[in-house]
Amino acid sequence: MILLNPKKYQDRKYPDERSKEIMLKTIAWFENKGMKKMKEDYRSREFTYDFAEFIKKERIFETLFLPKGYGEKDQYYSTYRMFEFSEICGFYGTAYWYMYHVSTLGLDPVFLGDNEEFKHKAVQKLRKNPLCAFGLSEKQHGADIYSSDMKLYPQKDGTYLANGSKYYIGNGNEAGMVSVFGKIADTDEYVFFIVDSKHEKYECIQNVINAQNFVSEFALHDYPITDAEITSRGKKAWDDMLNTINICKFNIGSGAIGIVTHSFYEALNHAAHRNLYGKYVTEFPHVKRLFLDSYCRLAAMKLFGLRATDYMRCASADDKRYLLFNPIMKMKVAIQGEEVHEMLWDIIAARGFEKDIYFEQAVVELRGFPKLEGTRHVNMALIAKLIPSYFFNPKKFDEVPRLNGAENDDYLFAQGPTKGYAKIQFHDFRKTFATKNLPNLEVFKEQIKAYEEFLMASGMELGDQMLKDFDFLLAVGEIFTLVAYGQLIVESAAIEKVDDDLLDQIFDFMVRDFSRYALDIYSKNSATEKQQAICLKMIKKPVKNMERFEKVLKEHVYSLVDTYHMNP
Ligand SMILES: Cc1cc2nc3c(=O)[nH]c(=O)nc-3n(C[C@H](O)[C@H](O)[C@H](O)COP(=O)(O)OP(=O)(O)OC[C@H]3O[C@@H](n4cnc5c(N)ncnc54)[C@H](O)[C@@H]3O)c2cc1C
Repeated sequence: MILLNPKKYQDRKYPDERSKEIMLKTIAWFENKGMKKMKEDYRSREFTYDFAEFIKKERIFETLFLPKGYGEKDQYYSTYRMFEFSEICGFYGTAYWYMYHVSTLGLDPVFLGDNEEFKHKAVQKLRKNPLCAFGLSEKQHGADIYSSDMKLYPQKDGTYLANGSKYYIGNGNEAGMVSVFGKIADTDEYVFFIVDSKHEKYECIQNVINAQNFVSEFALHDYPITDAEITSRGKKAWDDMLNTINICKFNIGSGAIGIVTHSFYEALNHAAHRNLYGKYVTEFPHVKRLFLDSYCRLAAMKLFGLRATDYMRCASADDKRYLLFNPIMKMKVAIQGEEVHEMLWDIIAARGFEKDIYFEQAVVELRGFPKLEGTRHVNMALIAKLIPSYFFNPKKFDEVPRLNGAENDDYLFAQGPTKGYAKIQFHDFRKTFATKNLPNLEVFKEQIKAYEEFLMASGMELGDQMLKDFDFLLAVGEIFTLVAYGQLIVESAAIEKVDDDLLDQIFDFMVRDFSRYALDIYSKNSATEKQQAICLKMIKKPVKNMERFEKVLKEHVYSLVDTYHMNP
């Protein structure tokens, strides 16, 4: 069972009772709330106070967010557990997911920072009010995080007064701890400090968006700050900001998987019971293809996500592979989710607009996901730097097993300075792909060979081409991303014992995507004739096999009909 089914969650294996308890209680909370009330709150833009109450009562964020050494004796931070919780929240609604996501974003600068005393204070604060917020973005500066007009003004007595405003800050209406990124006014040194949204010098100006979640604009007016509220400064504050995003952008992929999984069940249940011209909708040939493709894309999202989790968890100073797989989890997985929604909507058509199901809400809300924590472009600009190292300078690493135990993810809270990104090394993808011989995988491997030829033939000039033409970089980066995506899917499929037919069917869409991206590079203004000629070699057709198609459809997809309906 690859996809989340909340009704079968008790069958899963957990490293400990507490992990099981928080997942099952959360599912039960949503199912008891039921679809009708969930949709009413969504439509009335009711802030998720009820969820905040539940989280506080069950002390859930404390269990999920705190690293080892803080909170309970056996406390540990696990990306695997975060994945599960994020997926569950996404499954039921973005407002709940967002409350969780921005809380972890808001708290991580504290635990990445140098202020040990505040870390212990934060545990107590979290128990009183689990909502946190991450105050980075400003109205005028968007993705340009170097510019910050939020300032700490030094006072004669050694304290500071904070002045400035922030924009697009989730939970900024209620958070007990808002981590604010800014500069010290007289030195321009970066700084992270913590404020409380209920302080009299904190003004919550508005909810910038018209939605159930609160994405605030807030201002600080001479808000008093002492060293006790500063968590880091200078280069360390800058690193803590980027490292916080490194940890948390992962939630975007897992949240997206949850959202789309729920939509998938709804679409499947609807189509399987709708009879037109004497036939069920699920019997139409194009619907079969759309369902199979949707399922394969969704299964691939999940398989990739699980494996990327392992690389987050095994990270160390010598193993920074997560810095490639993490942006892919954020960017590619969320965008794949949008593709799945398009297909499902084509199937269920008018039903997808109706107010009594999750689907109409899910398609709208998912669209925001690729735009959070660095846009698609910013993430692609980042990972394209890894192309030379990934393809031409692999390194041997010990085999990484499925890491779903009770270990603390030590390194995530000790990532250190954010430098040397382009020098990160990877295990050889060729060796991973060599572990499996399936018809579509073989085609995919030929496409990779052609892409390698493209890289070799382009030589050092490719870097200049991409620097001059960002649009070209995006196209070249899509294929790089696809290769790394495929690598982790193959690894994950082996661990999860995914059958060969399903894996081969997944690589059917992977081959088609490869061809699509190759045509995209071919069509770019910057592509040279030599590059265009090699692009044509990458364009290939998947190996069709109707027997496999029908088998996967029956065993993996249509077998899910009526296996999940949310409580009314
Ligand atoms: C619903 C929602 C919730 C949010 N929550 C939070 C939050 O809790 N805390 C917080 O701090 N922020 C939050 N944000 C802000 C979010 O992180 C920003 O939207 C994001 O950083 C991008 O800024 P921008 O949308 O203003 O785009 P802009 O900065 O205006 O970018 C415009 C365009 O330029 C491109 N671009 C910019 N820089 C580069 C580059 N270096 N390379 C290539 N292309 C580039 C972008 O891709 C984009 O297409 C939230 C945003 C939304 C919509």
